[in-house]
Amino acid sequence: MWVCGALWGARASARLQRRLRPASGRRRPAAASYSASAEPSRVRALVYGHHGDPAKVVELKNLELAAVGGSDVHVKMLAAPINPSDINMIQGNYGLLPKLPAVGGNEGVGQVVAVGSSVTGVKPGDWVIPANAGLGTWRTEAVFSEEALIGVPNDIPLQSAATLGVNPCTAYRMLMDFEQLQPGDSVIQNASNSGVGQAVIQIAAALGLRTINVVRDRPDIQKLTDRLKNLGAEHVITEEELRKHEMKNFFKDVPQPRLALNCVGGRSSTELLRHLARGGTMVTYGGMAKQPVIASVSLLIFKDLKLRGFWLSQWKKDHSPEQFKGLILTLCDLIRQGQLTAPACSKVPLQDYQRALETSMQPFVSSKQILTM
Ligand code: NAP
Repeated sequence: MWVCGALWGARASARLQRRLRPASGRRRPAAASYSASAEPSRVRALVYGHHGDPAKVVELKNLELAAVGGSDVHVKMLAAPINPSDINMIQGNYGLLPKLPAVGGNEGVGQVVAVGSSVTGVKPGDWVIPANAGLGTWRTEAVFSEEALIGVPNDIPLQSAATLGVNPCTAYRMLMDFEQLQPGDSVIQNASNSGVGQAVIQIAAALGLRTINVVRDRPDIQKLTDRLKNLGAEHVITEEELRKHEMKNFFKDVPQPRLALNCVGGRSSTELLRHLARGGTMVTYGGMAKQPVIASVSLLIFKDLKLRGFWLSQWKKDHSPEQFKGLILTLCDLIRQGQLTAPACSKVPLQDYQRALETSMQPFVSSKQILTM
């Protein structure tokens, strides 16, 4: 391991279908599954033709590279993570699903190779990340429309750029948009070792916020605790500790949080709510336990707690590409100042994708799988 630092509109879908022709050169109907080409091709891509277990339905295929049109950008992909949303999309369990067959991967960083005559925002050599989910980043190269990409500075670590567009953006928005927090205020979160959780810890520390970080217990809990504290976590506690009576004493020294960030659902989220300050907000952004959020009636009545949700894809819909770019640049400043590093991760060559997919679905891994091209 190295420690490093969906939106699917019909137009985007149609564009991807145009670019998703098998390398044999003959265009197939959109619903057809791919067969590997006998012809050698420059583009290798992780394609799925139907929903199911990612380790079974995803295949490495040769694809034909589309011609670069006037508003297009030819991109050589450099690195792309495997996130839970990628897995959910392939399983068919995500809010927005691409038309099949599709190339997997919603996030990643690539380098511009060539641009069409009307492209003004990026030039050869620049780094780019997807503007929205659904781009299909698990491939060696592709031709995308300029509007599907956002340029990012290339003076940040590659692994930071590859993991910048989803988790740190989500962490930053959740810390800024729901409660007006002041330095010294505290925030509580579960799944604190997730990619989002690690970004929350670091961004909160940069803002002077104190974090209470809940994780699942494991044999090497001290190692994980040390790692999260090195990132700036003030407290790291297990789900079991959070349920104990002693937590009452804990809040004699630490202010009760006005913001809780819930990535898990089920009992874990019920416990987060129990510790929120009066009038506080719990923002749910993930459902890793696949269980509903259950809120106590008395807490809702007597503490007037607020239950909210956050989805970055919706935030992007509600804001302009310039505002998203502004968010990216703010995060790049934190990266340059050494206040935000990429999550703990493991580099896996694209051809070893099956191992990476399987690992990404295992519990207690604490390492983001990043495909390298
Ligand atoms: P990640 O780095 O892959 O980490 C997954 C996390 O989930 C780990 O902390 C893992 O803990 C925990 N986990 C897995 N199964 C669990 C279970 N059954 N009960 C409790 N915890 C469990 O994930 P990520 O990329 O940060 O994404 C985390 C979540 O946020 C995902 O659900 C993702 O879809 C969501 N997300 C949402 C948005 C949004 O806009 N709403 C944006 C980004 C991410 P262990 O180490 O204990 O296994």
